[in-house]
Amino acid sequence: MKLNEKVYCNVCGANNEDPTKVLVQAVFGQNPVHICTSCIPSVIHGGSDVVKTNDELKAQVEG
Ligand SMILES: [Zn+2]
Repeated sequence: MKLNEKVYCNVCGANNEDPTKVLVQAVFGQNPVHICTSCIPSVIHGGSDVVKTNDELKAQVEG
């Protein structure tokens, strides 16, 4: 998810200020999402259940 010039992982919420994370764009349903390299295995095994929607993630990021 892109928010305020940052890109957030839709699984763990990490953002691209962390140089160890590489975020990859993907599409779930009709929604563009981003997944970091650490979470890609979880998505492959857990499927869309582990991916938060942009609305859910935004609520989490903004507290
Ligand atoms: Zn992640």
